[in-house]
Amino acid sequence: MNELSKKYFETVKKRNPGEAEFHQAVEEVLECLEPVLEKYPEYVESGVMDRLLEPDRQFMFRVAWIDDQGKCQVNRGFRVQFNNAIGPYKGGCRFHPSVYLGIIKFLGFEQIFKNSLTTLPIGGGKGGSDFDPKGKSDAEIQRFCQSFMLELGKYIDADTDVPAGDMGVGAREIGYMFGQYKRMKNKWEGVLTGKGVGWGGSLARTEATGFGLIYFTREMLKANGMDFKGKRVVISGSGNVAIYACKKAQEYGAKVVTVSDSNGYIIDEAGVDLALVKQIKEVERKRISEYAARKAGATYVDRPNPWEVPCDIALPCSTQNDIDLAKAEVLVKNGVKAVGEGANMPCTNEAVKFFQSKGVLVGPAKAANAGGVAVSALEMSQNSMRLEWSFEEVDQRLDGIMTNIFAAVDAASKEFGMPGNYVAGANIAGFLKVAKAMKAQGVV
Ligand code: NDP
Repeated sequence: MNELSKKYFETVKKRNPGEAEFHQAVEEVLECLEPVLEKYPEYVESGVMDRLLEPDRQFMFRVAWIDDQGKCQVNRGFRVQFNNAIGPYKGGCRFHPSVYLGIIKFLGFEQIFKNSLTTLPIGGGKGGSDFDPKGKSDAEIQRFCQSFMLELGKYIDADTDVPAGDMGVGAREIGYMFGQYKRMKNKWEGVLTGKGVGWGGSLARTEATGFGLIYFTREMLKANGMDFKGKRVVISGSGNVAIYACKKAQEYGAKVVTVSDSNGYIIDEAGVDLALVKQIKEVERKRISEYAARKAGATYVDRPNPWEVPCDIALPCSTQNDIDLAKAEVLVKNGVKAVGEGANMPCTNEAVKFFQSKGVLVGPAKAANAGGVAVSALEMSQNSMRLEWSFEEVDQRLDGIMTNIFAAVDAASKEFGMPGNYVAGANIAGFLKVAKAMKAQGVV
């Protein structure tokens, strides 16, 4: 890191003590932007960088709700409105016991660049709660979501801040939150995305992040003389992103041999049976170990480390810091050629640098998983126009957006003398649009 980056980084660490994930996300961006700030010193002089590293505002609130035993439970809710230079704050809500301010801030910070890369008019934000949806009844989920929205609803509307889903928040939770918002405001507006089809949701939103990841990775492979056909693919996670990444990779002729959850992974050399995964995870909401119990020839490994399984392409689609340096070393030893980040920040900074030093292609999350938020922005457009586009139309737009994102990322990496470094390319291309807008709008 140069002296300027160090100065920014020290300020961030001092202002946000103990928020390791946020520090990690900032460190990567600062390192990548060094040549950009040398070329455009006006972004330093006008305070764009100082302002970009500090959220516009952040809310923390109590969420009290009654469980099925009639007992009061208390969780903590968050919304970080990070930057709205190019459009309303946009980013999902995560319900997971690991959630605290540092996680929401890292996700909100990354979202600024990701949303900019989509070329659509959306700013960066993120929210969530330390509520654990696992093992809760449907009635408990509903009461929690209503209570969460009762507070969150004070800070959002369709032109200000438009939350969506993330880990632990799918169509069911969005439905309960949307219903509560409507009751509070007596207004039908596109305040949340990821809504159900038939009441404002966009076709292909469910598939968007996973499909988008594969479209981006396809472009990255193509630019380097490769494709998915016949490749062995390892996927972590078995949630929304993992399922639809698996589907599209299989359609492109890849053999997906694993999916996982936080307890372990399954390995199926015949290729993952996606219908079975969907039945277990989306319908029955059970553990992935069930897969091995029901599918002949598949085995379950009782640790959440699918990265020990040899593969050509690794698609981490579960959570942050899933692949550290040690796991990256095993993947490289086993011959991995490309990594497509479906989850947010799934590789540590050390793992990314190691992959790059060994010539492994890395498709960074900010670019590679932008398909979800891109289709969310298309959902906002459809809501505003009171229109519904067909699945094919949305999917085609998504493919075009992901193809363009790869082109922009590739071009930025080349312009700043780091060809093939798509991590730097994504940070640079995402930054430049936001920085230009911030400078034009003055010191606010
Ligand atoms: P889901 O909640 O649908 O699925 C998450 C999956 O990750 C589950 O299989 C879960 O297993 C697993 N998981 C969670 N924690 C761990 C852990 N510590 N170790 C191993 N596995 C774990 O979430 P999504 O699929 O929506 O999101 C996955 C990632 O993609 C997140 O990083 C999210 O931020 C990112 N993302 C999602 C987008 C979307 O549109 N949904 C958009 C862009 C990014 P278990 O059931 O055991 O918890």
